[in-house]
Amino acid sequence: MEKPLTQHMRGDGAPLSLKEYERAGGYQALRKALKEMEPKAVTTLVKESNLRGRGGAGFLTGMKWSFVPMNVPKPKYLICNADEMEPGTFKDRILLEQTPHQLIEGMILAAYAIQADQSYVFLRWAYKLAAKVITQAIEEAYAAGYLGKNILGSGFDLDMHLHTGVGRYMCGEETALLNSLEGKRATPRAKPPFPQISGLFGKPTIVNNVETLCCIPHIVNRGTDWFKNLSPGADAGTKIYGVSGKVKKPGAWELPMTVTMRELIEDYAGGMQDGLKFRGALPGGASTDFLVEEHLDVRMDYTGVAAAGSRLGTGTMIILDDHTSVVGFVRNLEHFFAQESCGFCTPCREGLPWIEKVLHTIEIGEGKPEDIKTLEFHTKYLGPGNTFCALAPGAMEPLQSALKYFRKDFEELIRHKISA
Ligand code: NAD
Repeated sequence: MEKPLTQHMRGDGAPLSLKEYERAGGYQALRKALKEMEPKAVTTLVKESNLRGRGGAGFLTGMKWSFVPMNVPKPKYLICNADEMEPGTFKDRILLEQTPHQLIEGMILAAYAIQADQSYVFLRWAYKLAAKVITQAIEEAYAAGYLGKNILGSGFDLDMHLHTGVGRYMCGEETALLNSLEGKRATPRAKPPFPQISGLFGKPTIVNNVETLCCIPHIVNRGTDWFKNLSPGADAGTKIYGVSGKVKKPGAWELPMTVTMRELIEDYAGGMQDGLKFRGALPGGASTDFLVEEHLDVRMDYTGVAAAGSRLGTGTMIILDDHTSVVGFVRNLEHFFAQESCGFCTPCREGLPWIEKVLHTIEIGEGKPEDIKTLEFHTKYLGPGNTFCALAPGAMEPLQSALKYFRKDFEELIRHKISA
């Protein structure tokens, strides 16, 4: 299979330089778009490609771009969300560190499509190497005439800035990210209005994930049929999948979206470590529902995973094995979410620490039978529609599905008053 994203990598972990990227066909899509395509045609192409956002939500990228008003005064903004902090997720880091110009080219194309004149890479604070690589690549792109005024003589202007976050999960939520960029406290904003209409400093803004933007040069170069045919199934293109947990070879691989969970675990991650059995997996980071053995042959595309009762999310799977306490596993995740709540809305601020406390009580053998009901109540109380953003509902996904599939584990700790 021809891989659109990782083909522009050296393979030794070092970043592809500008010259190497150009030799591999880099910046040809930009030349083509600026010379032959109206901005609207780029949006139409991306719309027709069926590219879905790879940050976790899977919203159609071209549709998102099409909401940006075109004939309005500048500034307009294009933002790359590189604040990769979903637990178990490390796919964007690979692209940032190893193929920076592919991302920059994708960003310039996206900015051209929506006619943005300012762009930002909003980078996770802890990604120090990526910061260095992206800074250098932006400088190279300016020097080569791919950024700045009158790009490649087209009359199109674009500036690009790197902004490092402050190390909070909340900053990855697009409206909290905008507040953070404006120098405000990173709390989410009410939607609507969506950022496409009123985003950074109240101006039209698109926020796209790293992996999403890295697909754009390839779609412009090779067209929509090629992109769709990479994954002859419900969804288009390839996806960078990851597997972590007690498997033999944890890692990340770019694959068609027809791959199954079993193939990912057994063929790519080398299977479970000796002496351990698979019990379940969170298919796309911590804020997704568990899938279990009966789902091993589910296709890892948005549609397949949703039909199985979970979400593809970031596509980076966390495996639960039979030697790990389910209650401890979920308690650890809820600790993360409680710590990362921005505190803006009450169910999330108060509910998550409460859930963590109840889980801890069960984990140390001091739980009461009614604790399960309390946890179940909270999965609804913190669920969709009751909080300001997706953090708390996301945090409820592993808990509600653990109570569904592994209820006995909770009950036994409570009944026998044993610690996990
Ligand atoms: P969302 O569904 O609210 O929005 C996704 C995107 O689609 C946004 O850009 C939004 O503006 C756009 N959108 C949605 N509905 C729209 C509409 N009606 N009109 C116009 N635009 C619309 O999801 P979200 O809260 O932005 O993101 C939640 C996801 O983020 C979760 O699925 C989670 O998996 C993921 N996530 C990823 C990371 C990471 O590190 N990659 C971290 C945290 C969460």
